[in-house]
Amino acid sequence: MTLLMGLEVEGRDVLVAGGGPVAARRAAALAGQGARVTVVAPQLCEDLVDLVAAAQARWVDREVREADVEGAWLVHAATDDPRVNEEVCRWATERRTWSVNAGGASAGTARTPATTSAGGLAVGVVSTGSPDPGRAAAVRDQLATVLHEGALDLRARRRRAGPGRVVLVGGGPGAEDLMTVRARRALAEADVVVTDRLGPVTALARLPETVEVIDVGKAPGRHSVPQDEINRIIVEQAQRGRTVVRLKGGDPFLFGRGGEEAIACRAHGIPVEVVPGVSSAIAAPAAAGVPVTHRGTSASVHITHGHGPLSPQAIHCVVRGSATLVLLMGVSTLAEHVAQLLAAGASADTPVAIVERATLESERTTRATLATVVGAAQEAAVEAPAVIVIGATAAEGLLEGSAANPGACG
Ligand code: SAH
Repeated sequence: MTLLMGLEVEGRDVLVAGGGPVAARRAAALAGQGARVTVVAPQLCEDLVDLVAAAQARWVDREVREADVEGAWLVHAATDDPRVNEEVCRWATERRTWSVNAGGASAGTARTPATTSAGGLAVGVVSTGSPDPGRAAAVRDQLATVLHEGALDLRARRRRAGPGRVVLVGGGPGAEDLMTVRARRALAEADVVVTDRLGPVTALARLPETVEVIDVGKAPGRHSVPQDEINRIIVEQAQRGRTVVRLKGGDPFLFGRGGEEAIACRAHGIPVEVVPGVSSAIAAPAAAGVPVTHRGTSASVHITHGHGPLSPQAIHCVVRGSATLVLLMGVSTLAEHVAQLLAAGASADTPVAIVERATLESERTTRATLATVVGAAQEAAVEAPAVIVIGATAAEGLLEGSAANPGACG
């Protein structure tokens, strides 16, 4: 019968008999957990030479002997001679030391599990009947996939000692399946989620009840939580030892104030991790079939926000047709910006696309030109959140083939 155990190997002597690739893998795994590894073999493969050179293992340059087993907590027999492996295991058993026979279970008293880890947990798979390392590894690989994609609840059940951490998570434009695997995993580890209004907020409904959700998002008719207060909340939550996910729409560092939050955390010695997200600046146009660059049409993109007048650089992009202009938070200032662009000499025919609530069910695109867009937006009652794209790539029919490459479709 086999009992699965976690061994605390740090600082403990372990013997690895053999110098080949299997011995190298075992030695590296043990050294990685802080074991004091002695490799006994007349020759070493390259990986073991490297491990010894990095002072991760000690090398005894000869065939293994019975005395080598003395004092070891654990023995790995991984020579290329099955009889030697069995003998090494027998020496270990005589001393009541656990041993793994790399050539099979016979004679050894322990098995090495196929392992994977995530969120401070290690998962090991061993076969309980006759050894079947291939099957154990295949099952481990499948478990690893599930663990890493955030499908399992990985939250700590006990308060950790010391400060927690903050993960600034870019959640993408809103559709849940545009969250990254890493973002999902962060949510699966979170004790508290500090969320905005934009982004994949529907995913929050499925969090276990034990996860606290703090909504700091701007909503129409409600005062938004000032940035200083948000910084204070995430720092204070992490100081209580919790894993804090700061969930944001799009990418945390594109008009997301992620930088300010990272600085606030670091100022308090709290570890911060950043999970990049699919930004609405590129994803909203893409979802509506508007490429922000297109070979032969536009080779650069200028992304800015709609607060205040447009900068000379932003105006230049449109007037010269040199770059696609992408405006976030620009719905309420659309008329001023269009007037600014036309006054600066932009062509009235310049295509404009406005993409509202991109990637959500209610996504809607309004197409127009600089001459007509203000009226069209008014008529359609366009509202935030929306991304405005100005430039040749916003032209209707660009992706039909005929506009960009008239010869292509015959
Ligand atoms: N960090 C975010 C942007 C935050 S600023 C990102 O990278 O996407 C908020 C603005 O983003 C909104 O005013 C709107 O212009 C844009 N936005 C965010 N989500 C959107 C969506 N689903 N559809 C259209 N625009 C969106």
